[in-house]
Amino acid sequence: DPAKSAMTASTFAPIALQVELGERSYPITIGHDLLSNPELLTRHVGGKRVAVVTNDKVGPLYLPRVRKLLEDAGKQVTEIVLPDGEEQKTWTSLMKVFDVLLAEKCDRKTTLVALGGGVIGDLTGYAAASYMRGVPFVQIPTTLLSQVDSSVGGKTGINHPLGKNMIGAFYQPQAVIADTATLHTLPPRELAAGLAEVIKHGAIIDAPFFDWIEANIGKLVAKDNAALAYSIQRSCEIKADVVRQDEREGGLRAILNFGHTFGHAIENGLGYGQWLHGEAVGCGMVMAADLSHRLGYIDAASKDRLTALVKAAGLPVVAPDLGAERWLELMEVDKKNEGGAIKFILIKPLGQPLITNVPQDLLLQTLAACVR
Ligand code: NAD
Ligand code: MG
Repeated sequence: DPAKSAMTASTFAPIALQVELGERSYPITIGHDLLSNPELLTRHVGGKRVAVVTNDKVGPLYLPRVRKLLEDAGKQVTEIVLPDGEEQKTWTSLMKVFDVLLAEKCDRKTTLVALGGGVIGDLTGYAAASYMRGVPFVQIPTTLLSQVDSSVGGKTGINHPLGKNMIGAFYQPQAVIADTATLHTLPPRELAAGLAEVIKHGAIIDAPFFDWIEANIGKLVAKDNAALAYSIQRSCEIKADVVRQDEREGGLRAILNFGHTFGHAIENGLGYGQWLHGEAVGCGMVMAADLSHRLGYIDAASKDRLTALVKAAGLPVVAPDLGAERWLELMEVDKKNEGGAIKFILIKPLGQPLITNVPQDLLLQTLAACVR
């Protein structure tokens, strides 16, 4: 039983998963101190040239080690260090990457390595999808969010002034290397934001995993390596399974937006950057659970369990008071995108998703109950 051994082992062997997407299949390796393994990364670098894309926060921490791994294997390394921040996920940064690749005469066998969180992963993936019509890339995600969410599924891209993630491509990496040791430098707020997506995976797909998170939330918050590794493994398995069935978001993949309709409204309503995405999703899941309970889909105990777990992860459970009218308006944005009524991802029961319309009076009751 992997859950049990993850709870008891102080050291553990790396975990290997395969994301099954036909000829675009690729491995995810999860473990502690993987950046000390001399061949794990280089195994996935076919040519001689590598460009590592990172930022000025993660680069000083981990770039020298990654560089050494590659150089010891005889690779020629180009470093591209961007400024840190979501506001850098732009066309301008993308061009900076292309400027360096072209100036350094990187050919189409050059592998791009994304070293950082979701911002670096998304941008580097999109650069890899477009440079010379596509070059290989490897992800080394260094935030919990990127290890459990953004590095799985092949969505890459950048922001446009008129919308987040509006420019991009589906493009799968050669491999993902998730090193739990890198999480030890991650600020607690960023760790909690990643835990929101972990809890989401349990809540919509896997009740036993939800139970496990509940039993191990203290260890996760304390960055216990084996507990983190199991939470990453199970999250990647769950997300990979959904993506395998619906790579291009035709339908099923929408269930991964549990908590996100409310969460996006919070992010938008307060202005992006006030709450982290994961914080808004954490609170959004509490609201979705409240709504699920009002519809009779889950009992009060399940709603309370989810709320307590989100709180124990260090995430907010009380929503900001934007005014009911503004709340509805913000949630309509998702509706416009869909071209119909707002579709809510709810749970029925805890551990299973349900996509449905919701009567407005119940929605207003949830807003009244969750907002302060
Ligand atoms: P992020 O990349 O901005 O990282 C958060 C912060 O942590 C940054 O300041 C970063 O420099 C810092 N950091 C990263 N690793 C660190 C480490 N090991 N130690 C110390 N600091 C570290 O944010 P994120 O939460 O990782 O990712 C958010 C992005 O991911 C958003 O742009 C979002 O749109 C995207 N995303 C994409 C997908 C997808 O499917 N592609 C899914 C979810 C989110
Ligand atoms: Mg999310």
